[in-house]
Amino acid sequence: QAKEAPRSGFRMFQPAMRERLRDRREMELDLKVALENDQLELFYQPFVDAGRNTVSGFEALLRWRHPVKGMISPAVFVPLAEETGLIEQIGTWCLQTACRQAAEWPSGMTISVNLSPVQFRSPTLLSDIDSALAQSGIEPKRLQIEVTESLFLDESDNILAILQAFRKRGLTISMDDFGTGYSSLGYLSRFPFDKIKIDQSFVRDLSRPENIAIVRSVISLSRALKMNVMAEGIETHEQMQILYDEGCREMQGYFFSKPRPGAELAQMTAEIGQRWSTDLKLTRSAQ
Ligand code: C2E
Ligand code: MG
Ligand code: MG
Ligand code: MG
Repeated sequence: QAKEAPRSGFRMFQPAMRERLRDRREMELDLKVALENDQLELFYQPFVDAGRNTVSGFEALLRWRHPVKGMISPAVFVPLAEETGLIEQIGTWCLQTACRQAAEWPSGMTISVNLSPVQFRSPTLLSDIDSALAQSGIEPKRLQIEVTESLFLDESDNILAILQAFRKRGLTISMDDFGTGYSSLGYLSRFPFDKIKIDQSFVRDLSRPENIAIVRSVISLSRALKMNVMAEGIETHEQMQILYDEGCREMQGYFFSKPRPGAELAQMTAEIGQRWSTDLKLTRSAQ
């Protein structure tokens, strides 16, 4: 009888686990209809160039407006989409939607799209990118692909061939969340990256000398490898100033803007433009 059973961890754990599994299964099914029912949406977060005081582009960030559960984070549903294979379809939709959106912006602005490692196993990835470019009419150099170090847990010859195919088309490739994965530094020279994004975990607490040291080394590494460098997760003026003083020019973070819907992009750019002489103003030492 359950009543007399010892309160073992096992018995306590089971119902909770069943519930979690049920939640997951439910969300998987919901996600399948989400695409068809237009519940997925892209938000956009600006990349700013603190050297030139401009917005240089936007990163597309996926959102799921669940009819019952409200806004669900990609950190929750992207892993689920990866497990079920649905990420292929969702990823294609992201590429198409983001490129179509970028076609309405000034031609200098880039659009950055996150790709899951699972998408690299899809035989149609390259043709999906080609049709997103063709349908939107944007120049390939305006499309930036963001990958994380987890990509290199897979067989790397194939990954290299795909990244080279991106390069051949003129796309640019960013290493996202740099310094948080398990990869060695060697792949930075073996694979054709254009940009390194310093992860927000290092930016969050720059009062720690260890984090300053990491930021400094990543910036100098990017210079040695002739890559661009960008810092993500900037939330304060102080972080912006420190990164600027360390030589970082490209920045992204809530301090400039949170990710916002596509319809608000012109407004977002204008708002940032008005702040360069006020709260975004930097102390620029003589160069
Ligand atoms: P990510 O590509 O590294 O994106 C940065 C995340 O940090 C975003 O979270 C963004 O909203 C958040 N962020 C930006 N600035 C700040 C800041 O100043 N402070 C803090 N605390 N957070 C900031 P989000 O939108 O929830 O996305 C989480 C992750 O989900 C992304 O990390 C990316 O790995 C993944 N993701 C998002 N969209 C897509 C997509 O379309 N496809 C794939 N495969 N993954 C995506
Ligand atoms: Mg990213
Ligand atoms: Mg990141
Ligand atoms: Mg991330």
